[in-house]
Amino acid sequence: MKKVEISNVSIVGAGISGLTAGCALLSRGIEASIYERSEYIEEFGAGITLSANATRLLERLEILPELTKVSYLPTKIIIRNYSSGEEIARIPINITKPNEFITTDRRDLINVLLRRYKSLNGNVNTACEVLEIDFDKKELVCSNGKRQSSEVFLGCDGVRSKIREKYFDNSKPIYTNFLAWRGIADITNLPKFKDSEEINLYYGPNGHVVHYPIGTEGKINFVGVKNSQHWTKESWKEEGSKEDLLKDFSTWNNSLLSLMTSPEKVFKWGIFERPKIQSIQKRNIALLGDAAHPMVPFLGQGGCMAIEDAYCFGLLYSKLENSDKALNLYQQIRLKRGNWVQKRSKLQARFNHISNPTLVKLRNLLAKKISINAVRSVHSYDADKESIKRIKT
Ligand SMILES: Cc1cc2nc3c(=O)[nH]c(=O)nc-3n(C[C@H](O)[C@H](O)[C@H](O)COP(=O)(O)OP(=O)(O)OC[C@H]3O[C@@H](n4cnc5c(N)ncnc54)[C@H](O)[C@@H]3O)c2cc1C
Repeated sequence: MKKVEISNVSIVGAGISGLTAGCALLSRGIEASIYERSEYIEEFGAGITLSANATRLLERLEILPELTKVSYLPTKIIIRNYSSGEEIARIPINITKPNEFITTDRRDLINVLLRRYKSLNGNVNTACEVLEIDFDKKELVCSNGKRQSSEVFLGCDGVRSKIREKYFDNSKPIYTNFLAWRGIADITNLPKFKDSEEINLYYGPNGHVVHYPIGTEGKINFVGVKNSQHWTKESWKEEGSKEDLLKDFSTWNNSLLSLMTSPEKVFKWGIFERPKIQSIQKRNIALLGDAAHPMVPFLGQGGCMAIEDAYCFGLLYSKLENSDKALNLYQQIRLKRGNWVQKRSKLQARFNHISNPTLVKLRNLLAKKISINAVRSVHSYDADKESIKRIKT
């Protein structure tokens, strides 16, 4: 029989939420171990934006300085017309600090989180798919026979979370009717618009495109989202053909399309979500990140929410005298916030993809105001302050 190990918290999954939770717990002196089904901790080569609500927490966890070194620090978001490239609005960012809002390569983000976790003596068990949690024995059971006894279990296992399906709701992920094209291009292929090297967002009928630099080596990440009724593939992401990409964006600006077709490979992603959940805590299990509230990526908030969840749980678990109180308060704080951002992200899709010409004119007039409002309402949230306030009340 395999030896049963003991730690305070067992974390299922070594993505953004699992690794950040590991750092948040260990840095407060709580024992934690991560269980990851893949053989290696790795990410898909693609960009990610992290806004102030996430970076201020990474700063408190002493992760931001390392991440800043490998990230791009934009100063503005330029919103453009899809066919002419004409500017609709510009929104200044990083006004008070240069690295409140960063754009980075996911592989670098995961590497920096993993290095910090390991520097805190964190342990990752790879090739360890978690099959179930034995409530009576308070044990997690892995596919390789390993068992781990813990006080609390965190489901950080992403949008296809088996922990969620098994212990929370048995819903399946639903295709959102949005398809994303992604790729990484060279900076030399940027459209020659003024400030193309900043975050550029193009609004078009039934779709939008965003591109921004990642890292420090002249690479540009792009994501092009289209309304699309069907996702018939078994896989959620696959290599796509440039001909299909051009068909999807046939009426869009030529120099933008040159950028999007310049990488050797382009990828297609089906975007999936799950229905709103009633509870993200049950017995001694909590859900974090995409397992709790997978969202459409139109406000760039899925990863940021994963970081907020992880930070909040680490703080509550270390400050409250028992785990039931920590789990309970975690649920109260994070369910509301996650559900709100999930809903707000979906609304943004409607706004970005308007096709009626009269509404387009109105949308363009409001673009600056609405974007600044989104930036303020979503990015100003401080999970640290909120958690401390709620502990005291
Ligand atoms: C096109 C697109 C663009 C996006 N852009 C942004 C953006 O700009 N900014 C932003 O903040 N967010 C963005 N997101 C969202 C973001 O990528 C996700 O919200 C984030 O990756 C979720 O992290 P997670 O740790 O919760 O889940 P995941 O990253 O999915 O990690 C889950 C981990 O759990 C492991 N696992 C699964 N099951 C098991 C098991 N049974 N046992 C052990 N291990 C298991 C998996 O192997 C994986 O390593 C975007 C998403 C998409 C699709």
